[in-house]
Amino acid sequence: MTELKRRTFFKLGLFGAALSIVKPTKAASLIENSFEGKSKGPIVVSTWEHGIAANENAWKVLITGGKALDAVEQGVRTTESDVTNRSVGIGGRPDRDGNLTLDACIMDEKSRCGAVGYLEGYEHPISVARMVMENTPHVMLVGRGAEDFAKAYGFPKVKTPLKEVKEDWKEWKKENKTLFEKPVINHENHDTIGMLALDADGNLSGACTTSGWGYKLPGRLGDSPIIGAGLFVDNEVGAACATGLGEAVIRIAGSHTVVELMRQGKSPKEACRLACERIIAKHHDLTGLQVGFLALDKNGNYGGYSVYNGFNFALTENGKTSMVDAEFNRNWD
Ligand code: ASP
Repeated sequence: MTELKRRTFFKLGLFGAALSIVKPTKAASLIENSFEGKSKGPIVVSTWEHGIAANENAWKVLITGGKALDAVEQGVRTTESDVTNRSVGIGGRPDRDGNLTLDACIMDEKSRCGAVGYLEGYEHPISVARMVMENTPHVMLVGRGAEDFAKAYGFPKVKTPLKEVKEDWKEWKKENKTLFEKPVINHENHDTIGMLALDADGNLSGACTTSGWGYKLPGRLGDSPIIGAGLFVDNEVGAACATGLGEAVIRIAGSHTVVELMRQGKSPKEACRLACERIIAKHHDLTGLQVGFLALDKNGNYGGYSVYNGFNFALTENGKTSMVDAEFNRNWD
């Protein structure tokens, strides 16, 4: 299949009001052939197709001169509220005991960061993470402590998982009685949203939020709430985020690695590629080991790369959003 056929292009109105599918334009074709690019103004990128709607809301903040930090928070909240999304927020899949626990982190241009892990019963872990960043001397709160904190700061409780998600889990449970199954990592059970933005003042921020590995062991945290693994921002250099098998990302401190490679002069795509190659080199068994990295540098250059085919990201610049397929190391079809 040609790259052109595999790619879907989307166009948003200047203020992101209308979302409609359009045929590839000349400008879109440029993106098509490069897998990476450079933006002159504010820019936002985020993982997977759910990034389209999320970018739309982030763009509303950026286009009115807002901060990258506010843009990424507003952006990923869109995905967290999407009840049809099975890998992020309140529509996410539960752990193997049937409890939906959410992980998120956020980082800004001053290297301030906040994170929550294993948070149950709250719709917006990203906003709780921001609250941790802004109102405590800590970086990360998990489990009951994070829930007590969210309650104390007035976040409304929500009942999770959704009824239909619980039904799916009950079916899964009938077939999966042993303690642990090898993961099947694909678009159905794995897809974090990681978002990176550069605002009009030239400042970078990032956010990452997920329900994690579907039917994970209770207590499991992946890379997504871990600063340096699922997300890293250094305003002097660039920002990076990760999606896919979190355990593999943690092993190489993935997003931090990507930023450090950019510091050494690599382009965002090259940095993502080298991080994927490091993951490949560290694992004997690559079965189902999908990881994708996405990066944005201080000058508006962006790029992504993944271990296997299938990873894509949403790009919004000049008020237009397009989906870009990342290059990859190997094919799993
Ligand atoms: N990285 C996430 C995790 O391991 C999941 C994903 O990106 O799909 O929890």
